[in-house]
Amino acid sequence: MHWFQRFFLIAILFCVSRTPLLAAEWQVGVAKVVVTPESPTWLSGYGSRNKPAEGKVHDLYAKALAFESKQGTRLVLVTCDLGSMHYGIARPVAAAVEKSHGLPQSNLIINVSHTHCAPEVAVERPVFHNLSDEAEAALANYIDQQLIPKLITLVRESLDDLKPARLLVSQSSASFGKSRRFPTESGIVNRRYDEGITEDDVPVMQVVSPDGKLRAVMFGYACHNTTLAFYQYCGDYAGFAQYNVEASHPGAVALFMMGCGGDQNPYPRHGPKGLEYCRQHGRELSDAVERAIQGEQTEVHGPLRTAHTVVNLPLEPPPTREQLQRDAETATSYRQRKAKYLLGELEKHGKLMSEQPCPLYAARFGKELLFIAVSGETVVDYSRKPKAEFVGPMVWVAGYCTDVFAYLPSQRVLLEGGYEGRTGIVHQLTPTPFAPSVEDHVMGGIRRLVKQVSQ
Ligand SMILES: [Zn+2]
Repeated sequence: MHWFQRFFLIAILFCVSRTPLLAAEWQVGVAKVVVTPESPTWLSGYGSRNKPAEGKVHDLYAKALAFESKQGTRLVLVTCDLGSMHYGIARPVAAAVEKSHGLPQSNLIINVSHTHCAPEVAVERPVFHNLSDEAEAALANYIDQQLIPKLITLVRESLDDLKPARLLVSQSSASFGKSRRFPTESGIVNRRYDEGITEDDVPVMQVVSPDGKLRAVMFGYACHNTTLAFYQYCGDYAGFAQYNVEASHPGAVALFMMGCGGDQNPYPRHGPKGLEYCRQHGRELSDAVERAIQGEQTEVHGPLRTAHTVVNLPLEPPPTREQLQRDAETATSYRQRKAKYLLGELEKHGKLMSEQPCPLYAARFGKELLFIAVSGETVVDYSRKPKAEFVGPMVWVAGYCTDVFAYLPSQRVLLEGGYEGRTGIVHQLTPTPFAPSVEDHVMGGIRRLVKQVSQ
């Protein structure tokens, strides 16, 4: 070979080998951390619980995906095998990462799977769970000494891991999640309702390195992680699905992003076969993810645009002091505890809150993907409506983000009543059910954000 042929060959090889780096539209970082408590704690959800955890089925994780576009916009999505999330945890994490890495606080979204087999970190815990001082101290210690520091390190590690990557999205479906709003003559009751409004979608995002290695798979589903009602730490169906995906793709991190499953339950569930059902649901979901990975892909391009807002959702008029005093003396346990809590609030602030702040987020990934994140125990209508309204990109809606303050009903669910519409509020700190305009406020906020990120 002549010297200049050799020179050109080397030059071409150099360019080819550099191409993926130069052409990379995305830098993506991946990180994960075990968040299983170091000692047994009270478990989340279910007011009937009467003792702390007694071991684990598998470890609980928090996982992070950090995105950086060519233009330098960054966004970090955190998913957690936890029952709840609130500002008391999310804010110190966001503030610490803003300080160390300059990530705007509004560009960190923390989503929880709502597994009921995780330490109880919900904001309403001290009011309703009637825990012993010892049990409460163990949880407070878990949150302050383990969970918050671990989440801070997790997000920092994901940002330190930013490297060139391709993003691919696809869709699949699973059907074990069903409506739990069963209509009867005396109103909606919490029971499997196969004819109810539901959503089967399993959105999937793959993070692939320039040499084709799968680094992460994020997938979503809109359904309560409540197959189990026992006393062991477990990520429920979402935990099993993540373990399955990671087992089939060694080296890749699987993240479960909870959708708007506030009014959806996994069926069958509970009972002596609960763990078996849970494995089945986990398998159904991970099989759906595998089908998506093997199916047609859409490559996601930049730029990345992000937007965040907090909408204030009007509540029904608050109860009077006399009403609360009556409830505090005569009502049954939950109403009594709530009345005492509200009397305390009234004492402290001179009035009760008349609006519930509701954080909302939108992220537009080029023409291909619109990601929307909603707070609260978000019902399925909040996923279906944006998908119907914002045509063009793939629309991925996450619920249970940043602040799981109470059930977040749509107007339909609110007017129908039932647990997610009205009665569930007795277990949550929000003083009264939402006013019928709740959906206008949430959808109005989402529309404004989508407009901002679509310009
Ligand atoms: Zn729930």
